[in-house]
Amino acid sequence: MTAGPPEDKELSFLATRDALTGCLNRRSVGEQFALLFNQALEERLELACIMVDIDHFKKINDTYGHQCGDEVLKKLVLRISAVIRADTDWLARYGGEEFLIVLPETQLGNASGLAERLRRNIAKTSIETQENKISITASFGVTGFNSSNPPKNITPEALIHMADKYLYAAKNQGRNKVISGSFEG
Ligand code: GH3
Ligand code: MG
Ligand code: MG
Repeated sequence: MTAGPPEDKELSFLATRDALTGCLNRRSVGEQFALLFNQALEERLELACIMVDIDHFKKINDTYGHQCGDEVLKKLVLRISAVIRADTDWLARYGGEEFLIVLPETQLGNASGLAERLRRNIAKTSIETQENKISITASFGVTGFNSSNPPKNITPEALIHMADKYLYAAKNQGRNKVISGSFEG
């Protein structure tokens, strides 16, 4: 059997994916997040998101090489994918070693709990690449809102920005931490 040109469906699927890790890419999550956000507001559903960034990842590349760093990113995506709900939650590569987890219909407390479980799992169980066992940690920023009483100035971008703000607080407080808070405009 010869491989023909990719079907339209296949091409549009590939356009939503990050080439290295296979999770959603930043562009597609940006588009779809706005739809999900509006739906949450209209239907008065909760929505939470978690921003994850690997700690001192530059050092992993410097110590083990860029290719090994790539393997770590791939394995981390598998690990996160294994603990989120496959049918509702999304995982997107937001930057080089920064990932966004979107959790529809999820209370902030539950999102923080998930982030804390992930944080512990990542810190405790090293990532096995072909040549090394690599210990990493990651920092987490978690936020969300309750649509029954939504903050007035909330937008999809502002929600992601807030998760990022909590992530940077986690970095400033020493890394390997989860910082969470409800959305404040
Ligand atoms: P921090 O704890 O503050 O997040 O430190 P850091 O070293 O993780 O952050 P910094 O932003 O200084 O460096 C990010 C590194 O991630 C540098 C860059 O080379 C690496 N990186 C980004 N994308 C990729 C990739 O696709 N593959 C690999 N191997 N490395 C990547
Ligand atoms: Mg980092
Ligand atoms: Mg980063």
